[in-house]
Amino acid sequence: MNRSSLCFSLTGATIAENLKDIEKYHCYCDLYELRADCLESLSISALTSFPTKVKKPVILAVRRAVDGGHFKGSENERCGILRRSLASGYRYVDLDEDFQDQKTEQAALAGGVTIIRSFYDFSGVPAYLDRRLSNIKRNPGEVIKAAVMVQNTQELLKLVEQALELKAQDGWGNRIILGMGPMGFATRVLSTLLGSSITYSSAPGRQAAPGHVDPQTLVDLYRFPLIDEDTRIFGVIGNPVIHSESPGLHNRGFSLRAIDDAVYIPFQVDNLGAFFQLAEVLDIRGVSVTIPHKQGVIPFLSSRDKDVEAAGACNTIVWGDGLRRGYNTDIAGFMAPLKESMGGAIPAGFRAAVIGAGGAARAVVYALRKEGVEVLILNRTVARAKELAALFDCSYGSLREQERIADFSDLIVQTTSVGMNREDPEYDPIPGYSFKGSEIIYDIIYIPRLTPLLKRAAQSGCRVINGWEMLTAQAAIQFKLFTGQDLPGQAN
Ligand code: NAP
Repeated sequence: MNRSSLCFSLTGATIAENLKDIEKYHCYCDLYELRADCLESLSISALTSFPTKVKKPVILAVRRAVDGGHFKGSENERCGILRRSLASGYRYVDLDEDFQDQKTEQAALAGGVTIIRSFYDFSGVPAYLDRRLSNIKRNPGEVIKAAVMVQNTQELLKLVEQALELKAQDGWGNRIILGMGPMGFATRVLSTLLGSSITYSSAPGRQAAPGHVDPQTLVDLYRFPLIDEDTRIFGVIGNPVIHSESPGLHNRGFSLRAIDDAVYIPFQVDNLGAFFQLAEVLDIRGVSVTIPHKQGVIPFLSSRDKDVEAAGACNTIVWGDGLRRGYNTDIAGFMAPLKESMGGAIPAGFRAAVIGAGGAARAVVYALRKEGVEVLILNRTVARAKELAALFDCSYGSLREQERIADFSDLIVQTTSVGMNREDPEYDPIPGYSFKGSEIIYDIIYIPRLTPLLKRAAQSGCRVINGWEMLTAQAAIQFKLFTGQDLPGQAN
């Protein structure tokens, strides 16, 4: 079966920098693209000697600013550089769709250099991508390439449909179709499935195009070499979602369980209707659902478990037998580490303060009430605390009333986003509460593992539980729903 090649775009300011990057990533990629426009000095001798210094095929590209590159010279200069360099061992040359210099093209063809005829659209996905692609091809044997910025989920759907249509019409072949930006990320991982002969990557911090990840991430995290037409696609939908830890958890789980026909991808989604169409087109088998879609997905489900009904939020969807089944694994995921820390059961008369009244608090409050725990909800916006309290028969108040926590302090659950990605003490949402040392403090934030609140609680002798424990516990239930197997334990 045909597979996409993994290209490493070299965007270093010097050849030495590029060679250093190659040393680090060479075992993950099949070919290189030398982005000569990124070099601070364009010496012809450096360009002509480059292919002999590396052991893999090289694409030569001198990209203009209009195509997302850095070349600042005249078109004559650019053509001169290309003409004088490309016969020195380059396998491909990247020429833009409006490239006019016949002599350069002839030099490429005479030297056996394959032309990649490319167009870039940073404004969105063109309506008739197929026509545009067939119009840009000038010589037989050229590879045609479209790199287009995916602005929304509807555009991702359009791009995927067009790529699959072209593949069905013309078969696997000399074609590269890639979606730029976080919304287009799936097209980079699924390039084999979409019929693209090359996918691109670049070094961290020196991205050659929006949405690139480094080659090691594509191989080790996103299982790029294993993906083909039989791969089962899973993922996480959210907005934003590119920094989610779920792809790491699930893809590592697939590897540890030797499940070679599955991949888990982040889908940044701004339109659920379009996503559910995309899910049919790509035959997606299951997704995790995160902020802000946990409530929005519910009308799209064929069935929902009792936890989805009760919490009014769904964080897992599994496709099968023509149905979309919705589950909420946050509830059991929240409860698992809590019960474990308490020896398996929650004693009668247990009282808890829940800080926050957002989507996650809803699952937490429902889980606690199901166990008979008396709950006080404190939130910055009191109306939200009141609404949640009314649903589950709890006490409520303002986050300013922190003295009230003392009466509910067997357990304090922190569910706001205060302290997320923060280490400094001012990101403690309840600075007015002094720990006795007997409380259990559970912060559901998972980055950092030790939030300012948990640090203070641990220093006071409290038992602490972090959000990573909840995340992995809920992911384990999802993994079982997705694959029927247990998620192997993973390091904190
Ligand atoms: P959400 O629905 O947007 O709710 C955010 C909550 O934080 C609301 O109660 C909000 O109060 C409060 N808040 C935000 N900024 C605040 C501030 N500056 N001061 C005081 N309160 C503030 O979000 P969510 O879905 O509940 O998620 C909340 C957190 O839980 C996130 O950090 C998320 O990563 C984490 N989480 C973790 C897991 C896990 O598995 N470990 C699962 C789900 C969520 P208002 O109502 O006043 O705006």
